Amino acid sequence: MLPDPGARGARARPPRRRPLISRTDRSAPAFRRPPLIAVHGVAKTYELGPIHVHALRDVSLLIERGDFVAIMGSSGSGKSTLMNILGCLDVPSTGRYLIDGTDVGVMDEDDLSDLRNRKIGFIFQSFNLVARMSALANVELPLAYAGVGRADRRRRATEALGAVGMANRIGHQPSELSGGQQQRVAVARAIVTNPSLILADEPTGNLDSHSTREVLLIFSRLNEEGRTVVLITHEADVAAQAKRVIRLSDGAIVDDRRYGPVRAARAAPRDRDAPPPASTEEARP
Ligand code: ADP
Ligand code: MG
Repeated sequence: MLPDPGARGARARPPRRRPLISRTDRSAPAFRRPPLIAVHGVAKTYELGPIHVHALRDVSLLIERGDFVAIMGSSGSGKSTLMNILGCLDVPSTGRYLIDGTDVGVMDEDDLSDLRNRKIGFIFQSFNLVARMSALANVELPLAYAGVGRADRRRRATEALGAVGMANRIGHQPSELSGGQQQRVAVARAIVTNPSLILADEPTGNLDSHSTREVLLIFSRLNEEGRTVVLITHEADVAAQAKRVIRLSDGAIVDDRRYGPVRAARAAPRDRDAPPPASTEEARP
C-alpha cells in the first residue's frame, strides 16, 4: 500500500537544498552577459621628460551592446586617448578595461591584434586609406590580415562597398574619390570583418555637410543592425544622431546623458530645445 502523502505532513519534507531560481537559468541577473565595454578607473599619463600630461583621469564607463554613443569635448580633453584605449590601440597607465568581459590588461600583443581584427572597426578623421590602391583592395586589407582567401575577400569587400553606396567606385584609388566617398570606403573597410564595435574618431571632421549626412546615415544603419557605435565629434548635429552623449573635460567625464534607449531600432528624433531626459545613468538592462 502506498503511503498517504498528506499523512506525512510538512515535517517530513527534507530541507530545500537548491535555490528557488535555478542557477543555470541564464536569464538570471548573475548570468547576464557583461557590458561590451567596461572601463574602471582608467587614467592615462604621458611623460614628456619632466612634464606629466594627464590625458585621462579616473575615467569609469560602461557601454552596452547596441548603444550609439557620441563623445564630445574640446580639443585636448582626452577624447582620442580614450578612443585609442577602447580600441586596444593604447593601454591605460592605471585602471582596467574589459571588452566583452575580458580584461585587456592580461592579453598579449597577438591576442590584442586578433581582438582588434575580429571585434573592432575603426574610422578616422583623415580616412587613412592606402594611396595607389583601389577602394576594393583597401577594403580587402583587413580580410587579408585575417587570412581570408582571395575569392572570399573579393566577395565580402564588394559587398561592404555596396553597403555604403560605393559599388560603382570599387576600382577607384583614394585620390580619385571625394572626401565623403573616401570616408565611405573607410567605413566599408571598418565593417568588412563584421565587427560588433565601431569606433570613429571625428569621422565627419573633414567632410562637407552633405557627405556628413551620408556618413551619419550609414552609422545609424550600422547601429540599427545591432552594432555598438562610439564616435567622437565636435559637432552638435552629429552628436544629435547618438542615443547617448558623453562629455569629457580635462581628461574626465563631466556629463553623460541618454537620449534614446539602447535597444530601440532607431534613436528617436530629438527635439533640440526640449530638456534632456532626467536619467544620466547607465541604461538599466
Ligand atoms: P582630444 O582628442 O580630445 O583632442 P587627446 O586625447 O588627443 O585629446 O589628448 C589629450 C591630451 O594628451 C592633450 O593634452 C594632448 O596634448 C596629450 N597627448 C595626446 N597624445 C599624446 C602623446 N602621444 N604624448 C604626449 N601627450 C599626448
Ligand atoms: Mg582627438
